[in-house]
Amino acid sequence: MARDLLGSKCKRCRRAQEKLFLKGDRCNSAKCAISRRPYAPGVHGKNISRGLSEFGKQLAMKQRIKRMYGVLERQFRKHYDEISNKPGVTGDLLMTRLEMRLDNVVRKMGLASSPIQARQLVTHGAFLVNGKKLTIPSCLVKIGDVISVKESKKGNAYFVNQIQTLANKKDFPRWIQFDQSKLEGKVISLPTREDVGVHVDPQMVVESYSR
Ligand code: SF4
Repeated sequence: MARDLLGSKCKRCRRAQEKLFLKGDRCNSAKCAISRRPYAPGVHGKNISRGLSEFGKQLAMKQRIKRMYGVLERQFRKHYDEISNKPGVTGDLLMTRLEMRLDNVVRKMGLASSPIQARQLVTHGAFLVNGKKLTIPSCLVKIGDVISVKESKKGNAYFVNQIQTLANKKDFPRWIQFDQSKLEGKVISLPTREDVGVHVDPQMVVESYSR
């Protein structure tokens, strides 16, 4: 795995000074590093004033979004290139595209608690899209697609536990219709920037690529 995706996830949140929800349940607990140490990592972290230039802020925002989805620069740029000439607000189109990645959809349904776990479950063949196994985390789902857990995996201790966890889950995304008894979700609309759940300004990314 690339170096940028390794290492302390909490440090990435502290650097961004925002919860990026990279560690599952811990992120909503009192143990979250952002709650305990809401300043940049390192011995001088408390004293660092983030006097970034405009370009520096744009790069920091790009880094934040890339880390939220566990995407490296090359793939991120590819996502951007795919939407940059389409009609609409480019920043919003970019976020919609990232939200529709299969690994993100799996996480939003509550079947994985972090981006890395979602990616691993997808590559290990735990999910079907419209009844067919799909093992590519970056694949994009469409409106009408049905994402389900493979029948042979439902008996795994992990998914048995997830069924109990999902019984208490309240924050299902409004763009996915989720059937908890079948561990199956259907994409019913396109996600918007408000559905991301973390403060982001994708237009800053657009500006950084347009220089
Ligand atoms: Fe760590 Fe999650 Fe808190 Fe980020 S949100 S600092 S990953 S516990």
